[in-house]
Formats: sequence, C-alpha cells, structure tokens
Amino acid sequence: MNSTNSFRSGYVTIIGKPNVGKSTLLNTILGRKAAIVSPIAGTTRFSIAGIKNLSNAQIIFFDTPGIYVPKNELEKRMYAHAYNSIIDADVILFLISAATGIEKIDIEILNKFKEIIEENNRKVEDVNVLCVINKIDLVKSNDLEVMIEEIKKHFSSFKDFIYISALNNTNIDILLEKIVEYLPLREKLFEDEDAFKLPIKLHISEIIREKVFQNVYQEVPKSTAVIIENIKPGDVDKNKIVIEAHIIVEKESHKRIIIGKDGNKLKKIGSEARVEIEKLLNKPVYLSLYVKVKEKWTKKSDFISQLGF
Ligand code: GDP
Ligand code: MG
Repeated sequence: MNSTNSFRSGYVTIIGKPNVGKSTLLNTILGRKAAIVSPIAGTTRFSIAGIKNLSNAQIIFFDTPGIYVPKNELEKRMYAHAYNSIIDADVILFLISAATGIEKIDIEILNKFKEIIEENNRKVEDVNVLCVINKIDLVKSNDLEVMIEEIKKHFSSFKDFIYISALNNTNIDILLEKIVEYLPLREKLFEDEDAFKLPIKLHISEIIREKVFQNVYQEVPKSTAVIIENIKPGDVDKNKIVIEAHIIVEKESHKRIIIGKDGNKLKKIGSEARVEIEKLLNKPVYLSLYVKVKEKWTKKSDFISQLGF
C-alpha cells in the first residue's frame, strides 16, 4: 500500500455538556482561535470549526452548539444543523470532565445522542464514539479508572477512552491518532487553500440558513441547504461585496413557501441575512438569493461537490 491509498479523511463532531472544554479542545487542535471559548452555553454558532491537516489524514471538525432537548418546533429547526453534524460525522467525541465525572446532564446528552442516531435508522454500536475525558490536570490518575467504570454503566458503545487536558495540550497527539484510526480510507475532502476559504463561506451560508428557519420554521424541513455560489467585489463599487447564494430545497412546495407571496418572504430573509453578513464582513453587501429545488441533495458527496470543492 502506498501513502496515497492509506490516507484517511472525514468528519468529527464533538458533543458534551456546556463548559466541558469543547471549544478549548478545538482551539488546541487547530492552533488558533477557531471557535468562541465562552462560559456561556450555546455561543458556538457555526457548524464547521476548522480543518486539521496531518501527514496521513485530514480531519474536518464540526462544531456543535451542544445537544439540547428542543422545547418547541422553532428550537427543533434551530438545532437541526447540530443534529446533521452528528448524523454526518465519521467520528463522535463525547467530552466529559474529569473534574465532575459522569453527571445527570451527561447521561441525558448520551440518551439524546442515541435517539438521534436511532431516528436515522442507524445502530449506536455502528457509530464510532470515543469517550474523551478532559481536564485530567484537575484530578489524580487513579480516580480515572473508577470514573470509566461508572461511565460504561450508562453507555456501553464507546470504542475507546482517551484522557486529555485540552488546556495544557496533554495527550492531544494521542487523541488525534485515535481519531484517524476511525476515519474512512479516503483522499482529502478539502484542498488546503479551500480550507481557508471555507469558514467564511460557511459562516455566510449559516446566517442565511438561520434566517430561512426563523422565517419559515413551521413549514420547511431541516434538509434545506444554502450554497454560496459566488463571492466577489462589486464591478462598480469595489468596496461592496456581491454574494450570490442558492437556497436548496427538496420540493416545489418548499420553494413556494420560502419565496412567499409576491416574493415577500424571500426579500425579508435576504434583508435580514444581509444585515448580519455586513456585520461579519464589515463591508456593504449586495446579496442575491435564489431558491432551487434539488431532490436528495442531502447525500454528503453531492453536497460537497455543490460547495465547489
Ligand atoms: P465548552 O462550553 O464545552 O466549549 O467549554 P470551554 O472550552 O468554553 O471551556 C470551559 C472552561 O473550562 C474554560 O474556562 C476553560 O478554560 C476550561 N477548560 C477547558 N479545558 C480544560 C482543561 O483541560 N483543564 C482545565 N483545568 N480547564 C479546562
Ligand atoms: Mg463552547
């Protein structure tokens, strides 16, 4: 086997209760402030945090705003992208704090995770879930074995247990090796240059997606996607950014709902999204939105190719 066909790549999603160290771990791995580290729950907003290129693998990290138990239909829609990042992941990292051990909220998250997997007709045993015990700098090492026995009582499908300190960069190399073991044999999913372009594109598409859900939350399923077709400086006003985005739906009826009477809904989505994108880019934006019907776009490979990579 040569080095090309032993290369691995895939998606990783980190789940765990607030303050367990998810953002810190991402920052440590990606070596920069990729996600927002904050003591406030749910501030990490976008679904791709960054890409880690290794000599033998490429790891794409989805960031999740945590697993919530949605209280209503609106919240369900809002958290839909978090669920997608769980369903689409090749490896799930379940983070738990060594400082607290397994608590009620950890168990709830594990149960919710099982539910999401089973709702999608998959078996939990078939999912690569690694249990990552963080903040080991705060405890004695012999406490950890007791903790693992306790964790196993509540969830028996962990493929492995890894002890780390995200803050002190302890055992992060071991964690990365473990993740790579569970990724599929596959070539790079993103070219290195694209990795840099990706977050901004994704931020923009997430803003538009959020505005779609806020405006039509009762009627359109979570499979709605937003593809940024084009971002460029304006022809006349070079300071202006011209963005063309496609909202992809699976049915004609969904397209009609998003466009709304006389195009009013789409106009509202567009102007709300534009305000936020202008804040993100700190420049005036001209945003054109098109709604396209495409059946079964949700297949990951299609989606990636539509992103233009
Ligand atoms: P998140 O809510 O899961 O994203 O958690 P954060 O990454 O925001 O971390 C919450 C708090 O835990 C922050 O104050 C971090 O500095 C702290 N923290 C994260 N990892 C470690 C660790 O390995 N050891 C210690 N002692 N603190 C940590
Ligand atoms: Mg966070």
